[in-house]
Amino acid sequence: MSELLAHELTHALMYQLLQPADGGFPEEPPLWFREGMASVTAGQGHRRLALDDLRRWQDTHPTADLLRPSPELYRIEKEAVYAAAHRAFELLVALRGDQAILDVLRGVRSGARFEDAFAAATGQPLAGFEAEAVRSGYSPTSFRPPLPLGAGGD
Ligand SMILES: [Zn+2]
Repeated sequence: MSELLAHELTHALMYQLLQPADGGFPEEPPLWFREGMASVTAGQGHRRLALDDLRRWQDTHPTADLLRPSPELYRIEKEAVYAAAHRAFELLVALRGDQAILDVLRGVRSGARFEDAFAAATGQPLAGFEAEAVRSGYSPTSFRPPLPLGAGGD
């Protein structure tokens, strides 16, 4: 119960952090970022496919884009989609730290497109991060280019 509450509250908090001071609607982050943020914050990794199972799933579905799922893929492979969202967000936090997440949200709040705020806050183009997240098997140590020592963390 409290896990589900934490998940939903994280969604609510994210939208609050995205809300521009002068009203209006900010761009919605991609599904993996929204669901990954809520799932990681609520500590729901144990509910998701294990990393090895997720990697195996991807090996057997090489053309399926779990981070940008079609409505059809989302509908029939929800478990894999949520697992990928969780692992991608977890990877982003491992590589860049909590502050980068807040900086992305702040960038969108001040009117930047999500993709531009992401690149500015993380030093990495969004599409490049997504592709490398999948290629590396969501592993911070396999991620290329490797992070300089001391980066990431809080
Ligand atoms: Zn959710």
